[in-house]
Amino acid sequence: MSSENLTPTNWIRDNQEELVKLIQDLVRIPSVSGKEEDVQKFIYNKLKDLNLEPKYIYPDIEKLRENNDFFETTSFTKYGYENRPNVAGILRGTGKGKSICLNGHVDVVSPEPVEHWTYDPWGGEKVDDFIYGRGAADMKAGVASIIFALQALMETNTKLKGDVFIETTIDEEDGGIGGCLYMRLVQPKADAAIIPEPVGNTIGVASAGVMYFRVVVTGIPAHAATAHYGVNAIVKMVPIIKALKSLNEKRQKTIKYQYAEVDPSMKGKATTLNIGVINAGDWPSTVPALCILDCRIGFPPGETREMVIDQIERTIQDAANRDEWLRENPPKIEWFGWKARPHEQDPKHPFVKVLESNIKKFTKEIPIYIGGSAGLDARFFVHHGTPAISFGPYGEKIHSTDERVSVSSTLKTTEIIISTIIDWCGVELDK
Ligand SMILES: [Zn+2]
Repeated sequence: MSSENLTPTNWIRDNQEELVKLIQDLVRIPSVSGKEEDVQKFIYNKLKDLNLEPKYIYPDIEKLRENNDFFETTSFTKYGYENRPNVAGILRGTGKGKSICLNGHVDVVSPEPVEHWTYDPWGGEKVDDFIYGRGAADMKAGVASIIFALQALMETNTKLKGDVFIETTIDEEDGGIGGCLYMRLVQPKADAAIIPEPVGNTIGVASAGVMYFRVVVTGIPAHAATAHYGVNAIVKMVPIIKALKSLNEKRQKTIKYQYAEVDPSMKGKATTLNIGVINAGDWPSTVPALCILDCRIGFPPGETREMVIDQIERTIQDAANRDEWLRENPPKIEWFGWKARPHEQDPKHPFVKVLESNIKKFTKEIPIYIGGSAGLDARFFVHHGTPAISFGPYGEKIHSTDERVSVSSTLKTTEIIISTIIDWCGVELDK
């Protein structure tokens, strides 16, 4: 086939072994949140070889702290942002078309306990259609697919009208603050964005808000033999736990989240208040004087952080008011860690329609629109005025042992992304 007839989608089919190798190379570089530097160096060099003008972008913590969505992620607290670059590149268009940003996170969750794996979590082993490893699906195959898509456009000398930004970001598993949020503050604003998270043949258009809070109840210490001189902080926490439990049940009955409830098992579970950690007492013979409870609340689009904070604080105060000790010694409530707002992308936006028609074209299936019950990087694009969707390959056992991703699905994802870029950015016909 002569190069004039070679389309980018034909090119990737002819070169699919390179895609397999790229996924494997990425999986073989461990990159648990906080330790992303090595994989980012690899990607930087790859983008450099492709003339995509890569640069490292290190998060500036002072700039981030001024932002209303900032919170200290666990990996920031542990490692800071000094050795954790984001990487950005660009495939320049001729300047008369709409731009697009392809974004993928490179951090992964811990593979522990590794002895439970059948395959080496950093081995990238390929068995039939699947590549195994931590991050294979979430989301190194997706990262490979966006790099490969740009490579195909360059190899076939496709002249786009709009710019294509590519970025690989850090910190997503922890909240994305130093990654996708920081990039929105410093990168050019694109007209649309795709994040190839492993959502299979669906279009991800929404994510949940997530916040953490802590309740601290104090009592009076005493020897257990004379417990009546003390006030037991664990016992005093019980009415608060009961109140939070009934608030959760009430919320689950009344709050709907259509994009999450596409999955029948999520019906009536659109919001969850999880009692996550309790710390209290240090000795069976002592009346505990301190009880600390840590919780997570997930809430769907339609609710704001302020609404949820108000509801939870009122619930705890009401429970405290019904108890003589707690009325006089009110529990302290602290909001810490995660404070993500939910997001929802209008599925009728022209960009979403362009993607949908390409999914139909390549898969012969009508994609469904879904929403996640956790926080997602896509929210940062949408909150900053760039329409964004999650669309990526089919994977299994994400965040679990023997995580794996389908190669044929990654190939198809790449074709769909290329075709969407061409439709959205436009192509100069006279080369
Ligand atoms: Zn992910």
